Amino acid sequence: MFFKNIIGQQEVKERLIQTVKDGRISHAQLFFGAEGSGSLALALAYAQFINCENHTETDSCGVCPSCSKFKKLIHPDLHFVFPVVKTKKFDQPVSDNFLTEWRSYVLSNTYHNLTNWLPFLGAENQQGAIFANESQEIIKKLSLQTFEAEYKIMIIWMAEKMNIQAANKLLKIIEEPPSKTLFLLISEQSEEILKTILSRCQPVKIPKINEKDIFEHLTNVHQIPEQEARDITHLSNGNFLKTQQLLAQRNADSENPDKQYFSLFTQWMRNCYSVKIVEILKWVDEIADLGRERQKFFIEYALKMIRECFVLRLTPEINTQIGYLGKDELEFSKRFANFIHEKNITQFSNEFDNAYAHIERNGYAKIIFTDLSLKVVKLLKINN
Ligand SMILES: [Zn+2]
Repeated sequence: MFFKNIIGQQEVKERLIQTVKDGRISHAQLFFGAEGSGSLALALAYAQFINCENHTETDSCGVCPSCSKFKKLIHPDLHFVFPVVKTKKFDQPVSDNFLTEWRSYVLSNTYHNLTNWLPFLGAENQQGAIFANESQEIIKKLSLQTFEAEYKIMIIWMAEKMNIQAANKLLKIIEEPPSKTLFLLISEQSEEILKTILSRCQPVKIPKINEKDIFEHLTNVHQIPEQEARDITHLSNGNFLKTQQLLAQRNADSENPDKQYFSLFTQWMRNCYSVKIVEILKWVDEIADLGRERQKFFIEYALKMIRECFVLRLTPEINTQIGYLGKDELEFSKRFANFIHEKNITQFSNEFDNAYAHIERNGYAKIIFTDLSLKVVKLLKINN
């Protein structure tokens, strides 16, 4: 892990690097911060930097023998403890039982949390804990000579998940570790860590990621338009895992434009049904901004929905089974089907076809959709 791969956190990075330059690396440090702020990544970048044979002013070199192993998390002097679960194979599990899974999880993303880790363990409803027998493993490993590196580093991720016996057994070694041994504890809820452990660690506060840093990342790296980047930044609240979730959502939406059309369609039909003229005109403004091709797609989509409603009304069981419609669409259509019947279906079809043709012939979208909306208002008033 490189410092440069971690978004923002400039002050923390500088402070950590300074401890190495000054040769005053505390032997036990607690990185604590909220989810998605990059605590584990910072600890990994710090560990790599400390043992790098040729680091620059701001980062490790990435190519020396130490860095090559740190990057893959396979350095013999880099140790990990993390929450695990009991499985059929391991009824007294320790972290080393899951090292392969752990490496693939950690390397799969720069940001980590327990919820995303548990599936790698094959855990379904279990919580994940650091069990008592883990302490023996830790003590055993740290009593060995370092293999290659200057510092032996023990990273304990989600230290608040350490059970009390495990924590108690570690007190002594955390207070007086063998020379050139470094404990890096990482926690999202440090208030849940045993006080006696806390008092033995130097606290390193990892703040939430700065809004400006997330915004710049979104616009520069992901090329998100400014307004949208501002919205995503705001919703992320300094948690980059949340940012990633919002980005994934955004991609899913753009791969599935029907979702956007569905929302436009239901809004439109509701406003037309209730004859909310102001709302209808706002809606027309919105659709006028979509551009001609998407307006044509929308009309096709709306016509498909109207026809589905008509069929659904005639044969509710069959359509539910065939499932042409998505779940939300089906729910809406079941209710809306009451308004589409023999006395208006043909007119609906004709009006939508006309609107489509006008759009195609470069008609003025606002007029076409206002006109179409008023027709829909009337058609929805026709009783069966
Ligand atoms: Zn290096």
